[in-house]
Amino acid sequence: MEFAKIRNNDEKIRIGKVICVGRNYAAHAAELGNEIPEFPIIFLKTASCLVESGSKIIHPPYSTDMHHEIELVLVIGETVKNADDISAENAIYGYAVGLDMTLRDIQNKLKDNGQPWTLAKVFDTSGVISEVVLKENFKLTGTERIYLDVNGKILQDSTLDLMLFSPVEIVKFISSKMTLEKGDLIFTGTPSGVGKVVPGDKMEGGIEGVGLLSAVVSE
Ligand code: MG
Repeated sequence: MEFAKIRNNDEKIRIGKVICVGRNYAAHAAELGNEIPEFPIIFLKTASCLVESGSKIIHPPYSTDMHHEIELVLVIGETVKNADDISAENAIYGYAVGLDMTLRDIQNKLKDNGQPWTLAKVFDTSGVISEVVLKENFKLTGTERIYLDVNGKILQDSTLDLMLFSPVEIVKFISSKMTLEKGDLIFTGTPSGVGKVVPGDKMEGGIEGVGLLSAVVSE
């Protein structure tokens, strides 16, 4: 995807880096048998692996365990480096709902071999994002509900206040390691309840006040 769409606005934001946080909810770290991290765990996806809400997710043939991960996405609106609390908050331009689709079998194999898990995260269509809601139109309280259902059954259901690292803490941390720029997206991690989806499955999710998202898994 080259541009992110903004709700009720003609502006299109050119997507830059796609940065993801891993294990940002304690219950999700626990369900995969992982320790709670001391600092945010950071990895990258690509802009070209993203599709918009309503799209098909093409299941790669080399995996038998593709998982859904519903996440709050931060949209960066200005260049920021070594942010403090105020500049981190000011750098957040808006929010979206995202799906960070993950090939869990591939990820586990790579982790076991001590290798980066990039290839579990960047297959084409592995990221879905909703329209962006601008901060000027919506104030995130941090307690919003985040949820995902698969074929009509709620499987992930949490609130954003269970994040281990808040949006501001995440922007501060990432910007201490790399410059953030307008159009960069930050996937902030998924709550517990992740699981396998197969071709034919329909996912619908959302974050209260931020938006809704859907996707169908396809061969
Ligand atoms: Mg994730």
